Amino acid sequence: MEKKTVSLDTIVSLAKRRGFIYPGSEIYGGLAGTFDYGPLGVTLKKNIENLWWRQFVESRDDMYGIDAAILMNPKAWEASGHVSGFSDPLIECEKCKRRFRADHLDNPSTCPECGGKLGEARQFNMMFATKAGAAEDESATVYLRPETAGGIFVNFKNVVDSFHPKLPFGIAQIGKAFRNEIAPREFVFRVRELEQMEIEYFVRPGEWEASFEEWHGLMHAFAAELGIKKEDIHDLEVEGDDLAHYSKRTIDFEFDYPFGRKELWGLAYRTDFDLSAHQEHSGQKLEYLDDSTGEKFIPHVIEPSLGVGRTLLAVLLSAYHEDELGGETRAVLKLPAKIAPVKAMVSPLLKNKPELVGKAREVRALLQKVHPAIAWDDNGNIGKRYRRQDEIGTPFCITIDFDTLENGTVTLRDRDSGEQERLTVEEVAARIQAVI
Ligand code: ATP
Repeated sequence: MEKKTVSLDTIVSLAKRRGFIYPGSEIYGGLAGTFDYGPLGVTLKKNIENLWWRQFVESRDDMYGIDAAILMNPKAWEASGHVSGFSDPLIECEKCKRRFRADHLDNPSTCPECGGKLGEARQFNMMFATKAGAAEDESATVYLRPETAGGIFVNFKNVVDSFHPKLPFGIAQIGKAFRNEIAPREFVFRVRELEQMEIEYFVRPGEWEASFEEWHGLMHAFAAELGIKKEDIHDLEVEGDDLAHYSKRTIDFEFDYPFGRKELWGLAYRTDFDLSAHQEHSGQKLEYLDDSTGEKFIPHVIEPSLGVGRTLLAVLLSAYHEDELGGETRAVLKLPAKIAPVKAMVSPLLKNKPELVGKAREVRALLQKVHPAIAWDDNGNIGKRYRRQDEIGTPFCITIDFDTLENGTVTLRDRDSGEQERLTVEEVAARIQAVI
């Protein structure tokens, strides 16, 4: 029997134990809202980012990737409205002094922690400010970007001038963003230092609806590729006061996290708000000249915005299973092979037989030509080695035994079914190649 629901604690402890994600600055007692990615976590994260980048940037002729500076001229954040309006309602308990986001509370007058009286809500700007250079005065204030999108808009003119793209086209960026969240919580779901994969897709004003639909479909397809089940994702059509003033339509992609149905990604039609605001504040023309009609206008934009940490958490929650295999309960991460941090593990049946070890090393070197992430494990018995790889999501285990020395075949064990087959090394290489 398979157990389907998984608690956040299970994932947090697996992530720490197996080297995916650690609390930030842990030996000093941590720092709220920060996490450090360990060896397996950083690889899983990069694999997710690379899949996104390959799919949405490299393999498309209409996309341009950039990597803009995290520190930007503060005028950019005045133009975008972040200096005046990027805030959440903060409320403090008069008794225990704990702070909460007022819009996240069921009862806005009583402290959910101590039952004390809550004070008045006030707006709290979430941008991290710092000082650039040696001057300490107001003029030296700069912000750590609260979203990667800002760097995209200020480079619109550069990309147009360098590449002369035809509409529709997009600019994409993966990078860090910083938000001084009032109450960081739920592991990597709400952090203060986050990573985003964002696209600004520029369109003619009359074409936004078709483009919005297209990106909607592409985002759902990307979720499926990551192994996130369709039934765990829900479209929330953002309406009324929740819709940002510049957006004509926004869909939040919500995921069923163990702590509730919460935003995973966003897809927004932002009209020409951003480019118009940057044009006004910078004094630079940010219009697009349509060669065919001679018309000049500010393109409108569709924004698919994906948080990397929230994605990785949804991937881990979706992949985690506990099942019975060979009379034992095991924990297994059924990660898609494309993003699994380790693609296969090679091991000699016995580690004290030099002829098996030598052959296994040879097999590993051959398979590493298909993909470098082929692990080696000769610790403990084979069953234990399999369990260790199951828990980190390695799709295949390959064992070299005495038959290998006789006829060149190895045992290939499949992570999900636990089934074992005898194959030649070339067949194993082809099997791995086909899924990564
Ligand atoms: P929320 O309402 O949950 O605070 P948001 O609507 O402010 O999120 P956006 O501004 O739309 O989020 O940011 C785009 C994406 O960036 C989100 O869909 C999410 O994946 C990610 N993201 C935003 N804030 C955080 C955070 N504090 N920690 C982790 N990821 C975040």
